[in-house]
Amino acid sequence: MLVLVINSGSSSLKYQVRDVEAANVLTEGLIEKIGMGNGGEGDGEIIGPRDHAEALEQVDAAIHQELGELELAAVGHRVVHGGERFSEPVLIDNEITRAIERLNPLAPLHNPANVLGIRAISKKWPDMPQVAVFDTAFHRTLPEHAWRYAVPDELYTNHGIRRYGFHGTSHEFVTQRAAAMLDLPVEEFDGVIAHLGNGASVTAIQGGKSVDTSMGFTPLEGLVMGTRSGDLDPSILVFLARAGWSTEDIDSMLNRQSGLKGLAGNNDMRSVVEASEAGDAKASMALAVASYRLAKYIGGYHVAAGGAKAIVFTAGIGENSHQFRALVGEHLAALGIQLDAGLNQVRSKLARVISAADSAIPVLVVPTDEEQAIAEATAAVVRG
Ligand code: AMP
Repeated sequence: MLVLVINSGSSSLKYQVRDVEAANVLTEGLIEKIGMGNGGEGDGEIIGPRDHAEALEQVDAAIHQELGELELAAVGHRVVHGGERFSEPVLIDNEITRAIERLNPLAPLHNPANVLGIRAISKKWPDMPQVAVFDTAFHRTLPEHAWRYAVPDELYTNHGIRRYGFHGTSHEFVTQRAAAMLDLPVEEFDGVIAHLGNGASVTAIQGGKSVDTSMGFTPLEGLVMGTRSGDLDPSILVFLARAGWSTEDIDSMLNRQSGLKGLAGNNDMRSVVEASEAGDAKASMALAVASYRLAKYIGGYHVAAGGAKAIVFTAGIGENSHQFRALVGEHLAALGIQLDAGLNQVRSKLARVISAADSAIPVLVVPTDEEQAIAEATAAVVRG
C-alpha cells in the first residue's frame, strides 16, 4: 500500500511517498516559502508557491516525475494537536477538519497549517482517504495527577490549560520497537523513552502506555532543546514582563534564543560537541546542563514508570551522539545503570543495546521513524 505522508507547516510542506509493507521511502521532498514575498524589496513578488494548493501541485508533479504513474491509497497527515478529543488516528471528514481547526488556539503555529494541507488535498483529490495522526494522541493515557498543573481549576476548565505532551507518534513507535527488542509484549513494557532531536522530550511508559511526558501545554516545557529553554521558574517571565519585555520578546527568547543556542551560541548538537572538545567552556557547560536535566527526568520517570525495564535513546541526538549519551550515563550510575563505552560508540543505523552486562537495566538506542509510523497508522485506519 502506498501512502503519501504530509507534514504541512505554515510556509512549508514536507512529503514522503511510503510503501507501508516494505517500510521504505519511494520519494520525498520539501516545498518551502509557501506564500512568501521576495523579502520586502519592491512589490512583494511571490517567489514560492502562492498557497498550499499550489504547493500540492508541485508535490504531485515531483512525485509523478520521480515515480511515473502510481496509485496512492491514502494520505496521512501529521497533525500537531489533537486536544482532549483525539486519542488515536482518525479518518478525516469535514467534521474532523473543523474539530482540528477548533484546536487552533492550542497550537496557533501548527494546526492552522495542518488544516491548509488537508483542505488542499480534499480539493485536488476529493475521493482520497485522508487520515490525521496526532502528536498528542499517545499521551491521552496520562493519569490526571500527571497532566494537571497546580493552578486554579478554571484555567483548565475555561482555557484547556493542562499537560498534553507531544512527539507521541515517535514515542509510541519506539516503545513498540523497544518492547520487541526485549522480547516483551508491548503491554508488559515499562520504560523511559528519550526522544532527543531539535525538539526533545522524554516519556515514562507503563504497560506500553504513556503515563508521563516532559512536554506540557506546549512543546516548550521539559528538556534543554536546540533553541528552547525547557523548564524554568515561571516567575522569570513575570520579572521580564515587569521589566518591560513584550510577550513577543519573551516568546522569542524562550522558543528561539534559548536552549543550546542560548547557552553555547549554537543550536546544533554536533557543533556544540565539537566546540566542547576543542575547549569551549560555554559549549561544555551547555552539554552539562542538558545532560543533567535529562538524567534528572530519567530518574523521575523511572519512578513514574513503576520501575523501568529499559532506558531508550532516539532521534537525531539520541541515535547519533555517543558523547551526549555518555554524559547522561555518568549521572545514571547513581541508579546502577551503566553504559558500555565500546557499545555506546558503535555507529549504526540499527536498534541496539549500549549498556554494560552488569547494568541494572538495559539501555537501548532505537531509531525512530515518524513517517513510517504515520504511514502504518494511515493504512490501518483505511483498512478499518
Ligand atoms: P532531529 O530533530 O531528530 O533531526 O535531530 C537534530 C539534532 O540531532 C541536531 O542537534 C543534530 O546536531 C543532532 N545530530 C544529528 N546527527 C548527529 C551526530 N552524528 N552527532 C551528534 N549529533 C547529531
